[in-house]
Amino acid sequence: LVAAVLCTHVYSWLKLAARSIFCKIIAGQIPSMKLYEDDEVLAFLDIGPIAKRHALVIPKYHAAKLHELPDEHLGRLLPVAKRLALASGADEYNILQNNGRGAHQQVDHVHFHMIPKTSPKEGLIIEWPAT
Ligand code: C5P
Repeated sequence: LVAAVLCTHVYSWLKLAARSIFCKIIAGQIPSMKLYEDDEVLAFLDIGPIAKRHALVIPKYHAAKLHELPDEHLGRLLPVAKRLALASGADEYNILQNNGRGAHQQVDHVHFHMIPKTSPKEGLIIEWPAT
């Protein structure tokens, strides 16, 4: 019995350890500056911004790389990234998505960067559906 309980604990611990830092942000275990959230998607300000209002859009479903994310979880990621770009007021911006260390991926949870290049305005909070 003791061994079974220990195994269950070790298994749960391994499962928790396997979750990404972004899963912890989704679960509210790590704070973030949320910009948008629904049942599938979360968007928040990047903690190490390379431009003012640099934002990240992530699926709530955990997948490390884009090809590991089932199509049904791709749904609103790009539409939300697009809306954040619009909300930033920047008429020039990058939408970036990295897969693998060699491709500059640091966090193993699919994410799209929205990086404004020009004159972002103050607010980025978006509404859905779009008005
Ligand atoms: O595409 P890549 O994996 O390199 O980007 C990860 C991004 O996640 C970085 O820009 C980093 O600043 C950001 N990050 C964050 N909050 C964390 C950990 C990382 O915004 N807690």
